[in-house]
Amino acid sequence: MDISVVIPLYNEEESLPELTEWIRRVMLENQFRYEIILVDDGSSDTSWKVIQGLKTQHPEIVAIKFRRNYGKSAALNVGFNAAEGDVVITMDADLQDSPDEIPELYSRIKNGADLVSGWKAKRYDPLTKTIPTKLFNAATRSMSGIHNLHDFNCGLKAYRKEVVKSIEVYGEMHRYIPVLAKWAGFTKIQEQVVQHYPRKYGSTKFGAGRFVKGFLDLLSIFFVGKFGKRPMHFFGAIGVISFLIGFFITIYLIFDKLMSIANGTAYRNVTDQPLFYLSLVAILIGTQLFLTGFIAELVSRNSTDRNKYHIEEVI
Ligand code: UDP
Ligand code: MG
Repeated sequence: MDISVVIPLYNEEESLPELTEWIRRVMLENQFRYEIILVDDGSSDTSWKVIQGLKTQHPEIVAIKFRRNYGKSAALNVGFNAAEGDVVITMDADLQDSPDEIPELYSRIKNGADLVSGWKAKRYDPLTKTIPTKLFNAATRSMSGIHNLHDFNCGLKAYRKEVVKSIEVYGEMHRYIPVLAKWAGFTKIQEQVVQHYPRKYGSTKFGAGRFVKGFLDLLSIFFVGKFGKRPMHFFGAIGVISFLIGFFITIYLIFDKLMSIANGTAYRNVTDQPLFYLSLVAILIGTQLFLTGFIAELVSRNSTDRNKYHIEEVI
């Protein structure tokens, strides 16, 4: 099979017939062998009924229905597991992404790219969404080192099959799939300017909370990617530095005290100086960070994929 189109959807009953028809047209024009994987993320409208109807006319549809709403990342993950095509293309169900981009995305992957991410150069979304998105993309670019992407969270993307089979999308990590791919060793990441349309039916499924969650996810993805397998290097290092600062201040305080006693200078309580509290806090925080690192190390040692590496080739 050439292409698997993976589409996560949540309450998109009006868009589905038009979307599947459009995809079918593009596929037939280009003579692709394909499947459309519709993942119904626990819709509460009639989406699933619509899908059942579509499936009777289009046997190339594979449909999966969640019992409840788990989120876009979960839907993508399940779609990725089911995908059988050499090239996997994801798109949103709301007709904001255009299936006409599929042939070019496909040929870029065939020409060697691991991942091609859509860039909605001209967006049809409200300003309240586009401005924070710009900030996000800048932060993600600099933290991930993927400097050639303008738009990380575009729903329209294409992947080589190995990529989707090697990464695990969970929580709300769908915003950072190119980063996950890079951590997994797939570095040929390209961008393609894509057509974007206003939402035709229904309404957006993500509120303003997306920005807070997105930022926290960026921090955790960065942390897990860099220190997930060696947490002690992070906590231990800061912990030791903090502890040493506290330790040397304490030595100084003791020395100072002994000197003042020996010299018979004005008697001063150790607790009367700010340095004492500073050393106390530094030692406590240092010890705690160190212990945190130790426990994190034990946790990561117990994880089942502690020795899971992506092997590219064996000859
Ligand atoms: N979606 C989903 N589960 C959710 C929320 C959204 O599968 O819990 C799907 C939604 O149906 C759409 C895609 O994710 O196909 C993108 O959602 P939306 O268009 O609401 O996001 P926006 O375009 O506003 O970023
Ligand atoms: Mg949308």
